[in-house]
Amino acid sequence: MTHGFSLGRRLEQREERGLRRHLNPAESVAGRTRLADDPGGGTADFGEPELVFAANNYLGLADDGRVQRAAETAARSIGTGAGASRLVTGDTTLHRALERDLADSKGTERALVFSSGYAANVGVIDALDPDVVFSDELNHASIVDGCRIGADETVVYDHCDPADLARRMDARSGDADSESWLVLTDSVFSMDGDRAPLSDICDAAERHGAWVMVDEAHATGVVGADGGGVVQAQGVSDRIDVQLGTLSKALAAQGGYVAGAETLIEFLLNEARTFVFSTGLAPPAAGAAREALRIAREGTRRERLWENVERLRDGLEAAGFEVLGDTHILPVVVGHRDDAMALATAVRDRGIVAPAIRPPTVPAGRSRLRIAPMATHDEAAIDRCLDAFERAGTECGLL
Ligand code: PMP
Repeated sequence: MTHGFSLGRRLEQREERGLRRHLNPAESVAGRTRLADDPGGGTADFGEPELVFAANNYLGLADDGRVQRAAETAARSIGTGAGASRLVTGDTTLHRALERDLADSKGTERALVFSSGYAANVGVIDALDPDVVFSDELNHASIVDGCRIGADETVVYDHCDPADLARRMDARSGDADSESWLVLTDSVFSMDGDRAPLSDICDAAERHGAWVMVDEAHATGVVGADGGGVVQAQGVSDRIDVQLGTLSKALAAQGGYVAGAETLIEFLLNEARTFVFSTGLAPPAAGAAREALRIAREGTRRERLWENVERLRDGLEAAGFEVLGDTHILPVVVGHRDDAMALATAVRDRGIVAPAIRPPTVPAGRSRLRIAPMATHDEAAIDRCLDAFERAGTECGLL
């Protein structure tokens, strides 16, 4: 009789199924040189640093001097850690200033920052305690986990399909008048690079008096007239009840946020357990995010990113690749998982880091490489990426 855990065996099973994950250290977030003990590394020998087309640091601000100085100033003047939950002694004027800026950017009354976007999703869904959630089938894992913890019932609707959402809502109406319903969607989907049709989703939700919560993790700072996200771009901010996102992608820091009405935020700071029982956001992260938000709203970085996106998308399509979506995330569909792995290795041998995304993350036969350009890639970097994809695609028999 044994009551332990066979962790070694479980790791072996992952290995056998090709699902073993590895950490992959680099010396900085800007670029990487291949490390001798890198378990994910290829075999080629080249002198140039690798170009990362795999980060969510979309605006390239994670090593920007202005953002670094803002983090440093916060660390020196306030401290390296908040030292306690915001509700105890961890609240600072910097947190409040960041929240004011986020609310201003999102067009809401107020905002609240969490220790991560993951914690924000789980905390908000759990605190709202909905009777039924309607969730896009491709929503992020932190939304899925929020539903597991916080929702009485989860109805999954077809990806970006408001008609399917409406049908599923209609099918449940009738004797459900007193139930609280929450519609949940990412705004930009990380693996498909597409955006949710928010206006039609709101139409369906409003017919049933349901709330809508949108996760703008990949869109904040990147999409919209001043980087306010897809909600801003589609002009629906007054129809979205909860706007949520992360400070860890375009905003180059760490942490999550929720933006919405004053009552929502007051409620969450009382009842969201991942806020109440977790240490306040570290001041350097708050300082960095605030400066990155200012730079993102100012626009130059965003424009550079979109120029890169266009050049890369056009070039990949001209080479004969199928590129999904209509955002700054460019998923190149390859098909079989082995072909995706071969292409990822072949582009990496040419100094380009772009990960293969395979089942179960994406459906079988739709394995892909996820390419994420950054605002800091210059034209030469984009062209090097295109050249690597063309040569590697030909070498792998995919073009
Ligand atoms: N939502 C989405 C859509 C995400 O992609 C992520 C991060 N991968 C998160 C939430 C979680 O954010 P964080 O990394 O700040 O925990």
